[in-house]
Parts: sequence; structure tokens; C-alpha cells
Amino acid sequence: MSIYDQLGVAAIVNAKGTSTRVSGGFIAPEVAAAMKEAGEYCVDMAQLQAAASSILAEITGAEAGIVTSGAAAGLLLGTAACVAGLDPGKMARLPDTRGMKNEVVMVRSQRNFYDHAVRTAGVRVVEVGLPDRVAGAGVRDAEPWEIAEAIGERTAAVVYVASGNARPSLEEVVRVAHSHSVPLLVDAAAQLPPASNLKRFIGAGADLVAFSGGKAIGGPQGSGILCGKRDLIMSALLQNLDLDISWEQWTPPESLIDKHRLVGIPPHGIGRTCKVGKEIIVGLLVAVRRFLAEPDGARSARWLAAVRRVAEATGKLARATAEVREGASPRFVVTLSASAGMTGMELCLALQNGQPQIHADPSQAAAGIISFSPVALRDEDPAHIGRRLRELLG
Ligand SMILES: *Cc1c(COP(=O)(O)O)cnc(C)c1O
Repeated sequence: MSIYDQLGVAAIVNAKGTSTRVSGGFIAPEVAAAMKEAGEYCVDMAQLQAAASSILAEITGAEAGIVTSGAAAGLLLGTAACVAGLDPGKMARLPDTRGMKNEVVMVRSQRNFYDHAVRTAGVRVVEVGLPDRVAGAGVRDAEPWEIAEAIGERTAAVVYVASGNARPSLEEVVRVAHSHSVPLLVDAAAQLPPASNLKRFIGAGADLVAFSGGKAIGGPQGSGILCGKRDLIMSALLQNLDLDISWEQWTPPESLIDKHRLVGIPPHGIGRTCKVGKEIIVGLLVAVRRFLAEPDGARSARWLAAVRRVAEATGKLARATAEVREGASPRFVVTLSASAGMTGMELCLALQNGQPQIHADPSQAAAGIISFSPVALRDEDPAHIGRRLRELLG
């Protein structure tokens, strides 16, 4: 009996991808073994994060880095670092940001559900740009001058959500932010692969970058990376660590926390709520090394092979076309024909309500297109998907 059977929770076929809602992907046996071993000893948590920092600095090209409990936690910690700096009094007062730099500038089209993590630090989001898309006439998004105009005395940071569609370019936003001496925090949660993106945003000049550890990296589901400038990472870590200790007894690792630059020891900070356990830190470090050891080409070939297995198991459908989409992130794509007799959402629901439950990507369901990600499929899953699609679509 599996652990999930014992709990009475059905294991699902996850063809949605590494979304948190469907529990992300899998951890490799090597990652699981490292986490188990990590749980068998005790360590000083600040020292463990300092060791992580030197590894993450090398991997990302940043001055420093810490393991977080997810990319969203990285956004909260990064924002808190930009607001409080190395001032323990400010750290203690967050999310009350009265009298502090308490605004972040964001391009309106980049606003998303995860910016709640940014706002949790107590800042107000100042939106710029008017993406004129639905009206049909639209060619514009935000422009660099609009970001410059929104930056003022209260601006703690510019927050940028990295993606192929994000406008203006990261390089242009770095230029604007830095010409006003404001740090740039990048949400790069899902920007892997390519593995080169671990260095790309820091290389372009970002001051802080947050990655998800539970997506393509294959780390523990609740893990992430925050990397960037040393002082900002020091502030982020101070607001994340458990600091229930006296000044005399406190001997944090100097490579990451220089206590003599602080007027005193801050109390537990706003990020104490998103603590990371030692097992998570160790698991993420092993996972990110494994991720880097596999070339992008080999990874996408592995994913493409899984997509092909889904295509073979499905065969030809009477009431839909099925195709293998190649590329860096291969997918199996089913497009309902006009005579399918069901909508895209109805197909999604039928898959979800079958045995086993199959969760596909519904983002284009309104257009009758349902796609299947290979990233979190188990070996036996292509056969389940193929059988269900044939039952439903002939
Ligand atoms: C997934 C995602 C996040 C959240 O990442 P977690 O590691 O789950 O906290 C934040 N921003 C974007 C753009 C994402 O895709």
C-alpha cells in the first residue's frame, strides 16, 4: 500500500506540469536520499545557509544566495530586504512600513497572483503601462520612461516578472532602475530550463532573482532559490532565520552575515513564517546540481520521448486531432474537432473525473485545445492517458 493509499488520497496522473496545485513533480532518489540523511543530524541553520550560499553563488553568478521555501517566499524575502536593508528596527516593524520606502514599481501586464507575496512585505504596488490588447488596436505595453516616471523617494524596488513576453526587456528595466539607484527584483520562478537562465538574470544586472525549486529543478516541492547582492541576501536571511538567541551567543557565519554591521540582533522577521528546514536546503542543493548535470538537449529529448509514448498510446482519434509538439518543452496537444460533441473544459473534466484522475493543461480549453505535459508523468501514465482519450474521443 502506498503512503497515499494509507491516507485515502488518490494519486493522480499529472499531465499539467509542475504546478503547485497538482503537487509539482518528483524528487529523484538521489535527492530523497540526501534529504533523509540531512534529517538524521542537527546543524546550525545559519551555517547551513552560508554553505548553500557559496554553492548558489557559483551556480547563479550572484554574490550570494539562500534556499527559500519557494519562489513566492523568495519574492517576500527579497521585497522585505529591499525595504528594510540592514536596519533591525525596520525588520522588526514589517509589514508596517510607515516612514519607509514602501512602494514597488511593476509593469501592469506583469501583475499576477504571486505578487501577493511582494505585497505581504507591506508595500504598495505602483503599476505602470497600459497594455492595450483586447481592444485590438494595441501595440504597446509599458515603456522605460513610464517606469522612470513612477520611481520616487518611496520606491523600494522595481519588480520584474521574467518571461519571453515581458516588456520592456530586462536590460532596459535594469538601466532605468539603476539610473535611479533602485534595486531590481526578478521573479524567474518558472524560467528553467534552459539551465543558462540560472545565470542570465543576474548577468543582465538584476539585484535579486527568485527561482522555484519545485518546478524544473526537481527539488523538494516547497523549495526555492533567492540569489543576488550580498547585502540584500544578508537582509533576506536575517528576516528568515530563527533569531531566538542573545547578541553575545550569536556567531553567524561572517561570509554571509557580518553582525558588526548591525546595531543589534533583530527579532524574528516577517520571513520567519516561511522557514526552510535543513532537509529542504540539502535537497535543493542536490537537485540543482543534478539539474545542471543534465544538458538541456538531453532533458528535452527525455521529455519528447515521454510525449511520443503518450501519442503512441493514444493513436488516431475520431473526434480530435492529436499532435506531438517538439521544442524545448515538448507537449502532446489534442485539438477537438467541431463535431467532437464536447467542449475543451468538458474534456478536461471527463479526464479529471475518470480512473485514474488525469490532470491536463486547460489553459487553451476555450479554444478546444487541451495539452499534456510530460514533465511529471510516471512510466505507466502514457497508457492511462491514451486509453482515456480513446474512450472519450473514439
Ligand atoms: C510558480 C511561480 C511562482 C511561485 O513559485 P513557488 O516556488 O511555488 O513559490 C511565482 N511566480 C511565477 C511566475 C511562477 O510561475
